[in-house]
Amino acid sequence: MSIVRLAAAHPCKMGGPVLSAVDRRIFTTRYYRDCMGCNFCRDACCQHGVDVDMGNVARLRAAPQRFKDLVGVPEDSWFTGDVVQDGEFPTGAHVRTQVRDGACVFRNPSGRGCLIHGFSLSEGLDYHLLKPMVSVLFPLTFEHGVLVASTEALDGTLVCGGQGPSCYDGARDELRYYFGDALTDELDRLADG
Ligand code: SF4
Repeated sequence: MSIVRLAAAHPCKMGGPVLSAVDRRIFTTRYYRDCMGCNFCRDACCQHGVDVDMGNVARLRAAPQRFKDLVGVPEDSWFTGDVVQDGEFPTGAHVRTQVRDGACVFRNPSGRGCLIHGFSLSEGLDYHLLKPMVSVLFPLTFEHGVLVASTEALDGTLVCGGQGPSCYDGARDELRYYFGDALTDELDRLADG
């Protein structure tokens, strides 16, 4: 069995999820990691859009007009209309970013990468406040309190999967941001064990 319980429950500082177990395959499943240094993926991981917490939606809607101009798509086309109740998300509910021309509406259509991430960096903002947590943690994700590698990473369909650092090593700093040192300290021990 690859899933092990953690010694403690680790709540995300955004308000959810709470991690209480981990799938050990996060330590052995590998990927390219250097997203912006990659010249072959064409941002394939953004082609389906992403689940985004309703609090995150509100922060994006409140972003300055220069961000909205950068996106270049009317605000009412940013998200799907179906609100999904999900206790693992910080506010307990999420929508999904819309897909437009084969990619998430926030993907840079004239270059590489995520417009939310790029805008945050250019404005000196903490990108964790505007970018969906599911995107930041990718190729890790969470399912019913279990920290897991994404389906694409596990089934071999992730275009940059197979070689490089582990999914855990790639996302460790982001886990630390959301869940704190106690989680990464425990995961470090599991990775070494
Ligand atoms: S929010 Fe950004 S990183 Fe996430 S799927 Fe959309 S473009 Fe990609």
